[in-house]
Amino acid sequence: MLVITVPDGTKFSFPGPVTICQATKKINSSLAKAAIAAEVNGKFVDLSYLLTEDVVLRILTEHDPQALEIIRHSTAHLLAHAVKQLFPHAQVTIGPVIENGFYYDFSIAQSFTPDDLQQIEKRMQELSKQALPIERFELPRTEAIALFRRMGEEYKVEIIEKIPEGEVLSFYREGDFVDLCRGPHVPNTNKLKIFKLTHIAGAYWRGDAKNAMLQRIYGTAWLKQNDLDTYLTRLAEAEKRDHRKLAKQLDLFHIQEEAPGMVFWHPNGWAIYQYIERYIQSCLVKCGYQEIRTPQLLSRHLWERSGHWDKFFKEMFITYTSDENTQFAIKPMNCPGHVQVFNQGLKSYRDLPVRFSEFGSCHRNEPSGSLHGLMRVRGFVQDDAHIFCTEEQLQSEVAAFITLLYEVYADFGFNEILLKLATRPEVRVGSNENWDRAEQALMHALNAGSFMWSYAVGEGAFYGPKIEFSLKDCLGRVWQCGTIQVDFSMPERLGAEYITEKGERKVPVMLHRAILGSLERFIGILIEHYAGRFPVWLAPVQVIVMTITDKQHGYAVAVAQELEQAGLRIKLDLRNEKIGFKIREHTLQKIPYLLVIGDKEIESQQVSVRRQTGDNLGRLLVQEFVQLMQQAVSQRGRIDAEK
Ligand SMILES: [Zn+2]
Ligand SMILES: [Zn+2]
Repeated sequence: MLVITVPDGTKFSFPGPVTICQATKKINSSLAKAAIAAEVNGKFVDLSYLLTEDVVLRILTEHDPQALEIIRHSTAHLLAHAVKQLFPHAQVTIGPVIENGFYYDFSIAQSFTPDDLQQIEKRMQELSKQALPIERFELPRTEAIALFRRMGEEYKVEIIEKIPEGEVLSFYREGDFVDLCRGPHVPNTNKLKIFKLTHIAGAYWRGDAKNAMLQRIYGTAWLKQNDLDTYLTRLAEAEKRDHRKLAKQLDLFHIQEEAPGMVFWHPNGWAIYQYIERYIQSCLVKCGYQEIRTPQLLSRHLWERSGHWDKFFKEMFITYTSDENTQFAIKPMNCPGHVQVFNQGLKSYRDLPVRFSEFGSCHRNEPSGSLHGLMRVRGFVQDDAHIFCTEEQLQSEVAAFITLLYEVYADFGFNEILLKLATRPEVRVGSNENWDRAEQALMHALNAGSFMWSYAVGEGAFYGPKIEFSLKDCLGRVWQCGTIQVDFSMPERLGAEYITEKGERKVPVMLHRAILGSLERFIGILIEHYAGRFPVWLAPVQVIVMTITDKQHGYAVAVAQELEQAGLRIKLDLRNEKIGFKIREHTLQKIPYLLVIGDKEIESQQVSVRRQTGDNLGRLLVQEFVQLMQQAVSQRGRIDAEK
């Protein structure tokens, strides 16, 4: 006798063991048809799973978000199945689910082409139509290894050999394809219909550049056709906004082989960079920060004391010398340097909080395969700062930081911010009482500001809890940028202290915080968010002044001078070209305002104003236009966010 309880509490009895599939057919036949997988006592399993005791059973259909992961996972297998049929010499490796889809890595001598991708996708659709059952089976280790060796799947053999002794080895068969997998899967290939292969990339086996290069195929899969269509539209829009493409078009920066992951800023890009830096500087001064500058190279001994040598060694660029005593590392972060500045001179409780900021140039040896334009670089500048304070000041410092961060994000046109409180991880330093206090302080700061936030349990740094701030761009993509972290460890390790009211020595609390994160990455996000159409305050050139014929030369120069004196960044186009041609060219350069000067404008002593977006604002006096621009500058990104 076996009792199955379904989510609404109804109980069903069966005389003996029964598969979920058989049971569901008895319970609700239309549900059985729609079933994708099941949840048994909180664990996701196949529909073929045999129930042998009383359970709580929930059937997953296309209405369950959890079913999506199973669909994507099964579609990755379908991809491998199709590739094996079309390219029998390809070896399969791994194929995980990722955000919005999945990928699968293949070992194959040739490179897949976009044409191959189409063929593979077609074959996947055919396999889907065949409604091949997807069946689970188990094998002992030696048999499993022998089976995959016979199939010529050396990577799978390696994977199986590394699975700890005693673990169940489960496999899935669909038609003539077998793969090692934990599951669960959809019951048959016909449940996989709404997918698309998106692109191909190279990837190293186990992500290590010393290993063989594999061919990675990316795909996406969804529960509803509409979801797939929306996603593909968004993908196409993201491609149009690709910051690397726009950087070329707008002449912002470049990256070349001799400096992988490091940016050569061109005048236009560097101008934007500097406007952002100056803006952040002005915000920090208002909030009581003091800007400092610390060395690029620091001795190995300091990195050992700070703990970075142990934890960060692989990511640090080290200077090579024969003698350990003269070994240096390029800083991957600014914190130890800031503690050195704090340690100069005796600090009293009256000096706290001390807030040191630095546009800290850092280098990290990221794997070459992970580098991506400005989004993932090796050399970057953080809008970094460290606050040294007492425990009592912790909460108000955190609250003040969050307020500042919201202001800054709004100025850049981001209004949707996601907050996460990352709490103590398993491996950590510091007493539980310290963690309690720090987590409480962060939580109170969040609650006092009535922010919507969620927990990221166990995701804090080993040295303290943190709040992570992510912004949503206009395509709905989420970027983690800001952070504030409580640190109990480093100030003590590096000997920071202050004298309390009672005359005792005490270690201050250290807060690491950044609003933008890396300036490089933040500018990458901005380029894509604005699609290169920077708001007036950030545009390298704000206004282009154009003449219709040579006759307006003198007036145009006078207008340009007046605008420049008003502090605007302008360019003059006096070329002997058709006005339509000039407008097109500067529109492509995404200059926010275009002024046209012809005879009529001279007569009325005005200028004709167009926006980059094409709106015609008609004729304005120069002073009226200056006012319009000053207003636009003062609004920063807040107006553009609405468009
Ligand atoms: Zn699988
Ligand atoms: Zn830091």
